[in-house]
Amino acid sequence: MTSPRIALVTGAARGIGAAVAERLAADGLAVAVADLDERACAEVAARIASAGGRALAVPIDVSDESSVARGVAHVAERLGPPTVLVNNAGVLRDNLLFRMTNDDWSTVMDVHLRGSFLMSRAAQGHMTKAGFGRIVNLSSTSALGNRGQANYAAAKAGLQGFTKTLAIELGKFGVTTNAIAPGFIATDMTRTTAERMGVSFEELVEHGVKDIPAGRVGTPADIAAVASFLAREDAGFVNGQVIYVAGGPKD
Ligand code: NAP
Repeated sequence: MTSPRIALVTGAARGIGAAVAERLAADGLAVAVADLDERACAEVAARIASAGGRALAVPIDVSDESSVARGVAHVAERLGPPTVLVNNAGVLRDNLLFRMTNDDWSTVMDVHLRGSFLMSRAAQGHMTKAGFGRIVNLSSTSALGNRGQANYAAAKAGLQGFTKTLAIELGKFGVTTNAIAPGFIATDMTRTTAERMGVSFEELVEHGVKDIPAGRVGTPADIAAVASFLAREDAGFVNGQVIYVAGGPKD
């Protein structure tokens, strides 16, 4: 029997990241569940183990170079070399431009853009050595522009250029890089958005659904299904793509 592929999912303590981690584990991969909150990672890892999978909880702050180096080395040692990386960790610091602080800007850039850069750079050596790799970056429909999200939109659009460039550089090593651009997904992140806007989550959903041809908002499982496909061995000719998962056309 060949040993299972090793996946590393960032921001995996909850929301989309947790769903991706659980889905990849159900697909037969061993999964490193990485997030800031180690205890929350351990809960997700325990759920994976009780469903019969193999998981390791690992604290990683993706915006911190030494934390990334430590975390990736720990995964390689304890679970095996990570050859599937899902750059999912994310934060919001929404504000209209005139109110956006330097900190709002740099926090979002540090987690989404710098974090995906640091993680991909740290993991790519394991992938090129194995002659196989899958990098999946979480972009967003906000990359196309969204009021109150100059920082987030710039980071998520930046991730699309980052994705295409890694696809060009790493393709010949058997490593694909793709991005998923979700629309409205029901998670703590969108609940926080509702709070910030001073509306209930139900009101935000009701308003959001009006613009979604599928007639519903998305779930973390909708995103996990696409990540699962992109991580597959037979998805190796899909490279440098941005897949909008938004219940209808975007772009
Ligand atoms: P979420 O529920 O807020 O989860 C994000 C996770 O990332 C949290 O566990 C968070 O930890 C963690 N995180 C934050 N900063 C981190 C860091 N520096 N290092 C490691 N982990 C960190 O968000 P989500 O809705 O699942 O979103 C997941 C990804 O999808 C994000 O990249 C987001 O931008 C993207 N996305 C989401 C939607 C949506 O509608 N939900 C739409 C488009 C794109 P803490 O809780 O400790 O901060």
